[in-house]
Amino acid sequence: MDKRHELVLQVTDYSHQELAKAARYYDTVDKFPEEQMIHLFSLAILPSLYKNLNDLTYHDYLSVIRLVSKNFPALGSILLTQESHCVWPISTFGTTQQKERYLEKALHGEIYGCFALNEPITGSEIEEMKTVAHQTETGWVLSGNKDYISNSPIASVLLIAAKTIALDGTQGYAIFVIDKKTNGLKVGELEEKMGIKALPVASVQLDKVQLTDDNLLGGVVNGLPQIDSILNRNRLAVAAQSLGIAGGALDRGLKYVSYNRNLGKRLIDMASIQYKLADIETGIYSARSLLMQVINSRQEQDERMVAMTKLTASNLAIETTESIINMSGGYGYMRNNDIERFVRDAKITAIYGSSSDRLRSIIAKPWVNKKCKVKEE
Ligand SMILES: Cc1cc2nc3c(=O)[nH]c(=O)nc-3n(C[C@H](O)[C@H](O)[C@H](O)COP(=O)(O)OP(=O)(O)OC[C@H]3O[C@@H](n4cnc5c(N)ncnc54)[C@H](O)[C@@H]3O)c2cc1C
Repeated sequence: MDKRHELVLQVTDYSHQELAKAARYYDTVDKFPEEQMIHLFSLAILPSLYKNLNDLTYHDYLSVIRLVSKNFPALGSILLTQESHCVWPISTFGTTQQKERYLEKALHGEIYGCFALNEPITGSEIEEMKTVAHQTETGWVLSGNKDYISNSPIASVLLIAAKTIALDGTQGYAIFVIDKKTNGLKVGELEEKMGIKALPVASVQLDKVQLTDDNLLGGVVNGLPQIDSILNRNRLAVAAQSLGIAGGALDRGLKYVSYNRNLGKRLIDMASIQYKLADIETGIYSARSLLMQVINSRQEQDERMVAMTKLTASNLAIETTESIINMSGGYGYMRNNDIERFVRDAKITAIYGSSSDRLRSIIAKPWVNKKCKVKEE
């Protein structure tokens, strides 16, 4: 039998015992769940993953995201943002100086970071990006606006994707690593959202921010592969989060339909309810298998496989929460029973980390590029 990592077991206990209650509270106050994040960081999940300590694997880390999201999806969002939007890019692409300055602190939760790609009007369409860095004799001047940036209100370091225009007119893309206190950088008001309320999200404005080559991620103008890599890393974590949301909703639905109602009758004794639950369980098994296959076969940076994995998992989260609220009647619709919160929280998985339709475009790309010549096997 699959032996679960000690740390994963600790997160499982913490999630069951503490997080459901905390999630209900933070869903009503739109506040950052500091105490819960401090606890997660005290377990040294990210240091273990990045320093190859305690045999913690990437699969274990995704299990942590799934288990946290089973009770408190917004907490899963905060952790996966810290990992995929800050720790991963700095660790994978950062200069020695960038690693020394931010990495250790980010691994331990002493600082938070965020990654800003999305913009007002043009969204996450890279070719249409309006945030531009002009090269000068001494460095770069960066201006633009970013929208809906997770963790930006609590971030000390911001990774900003921008179009670059070099002195000789050459255009490219880069990610700039910038301290929040830098002149010209401003984080907007906290956004009010439909779900995952505890995740702090805001806009970021950049007004002629003066930078040097030291602010370039990795010290180079190499934005496109860096952005792709961050997106893929983030999408797999969102897939794990989606599995957690589906699993959390299923647990709650099962509890409801298993109650004795009248003269010992239970909803679960009805075949129609059993069929719905069977479809959900099959969906969870399938999405989980796909995620494991991508990891086991080292396809974490295969954009198409990752897109299929996130699309499958987020569809599952949305369909499962919808199905569970339907089978829970008025009970599921009421606040404080978690189910309606899971319906609201599930929706984000089809939006952030690229919308489902954008993922479908990625999956369809090879056929479109081959002008619809389908190879018969
Ligand atoms: C809570 C939250 C947190 C977020 N966190 C971050 C973050 O940390 N960093 C960050 O950079 N962004 C973040 N985002 C932004 C998120 O990635 C975008 O909202 C998402 O990619 C959709 O872009 P958009 O909102 O601009 O919608 P639009 O681009 O306006 O798209 C609307 C719809 O049009 C369709 N569509 C648009 N373009 C395409 C295309 N090329 N192919 C196929 N269909 C398309 C899709 O169905 C899409 O849902 C966050 C968003 C939310 C809501």
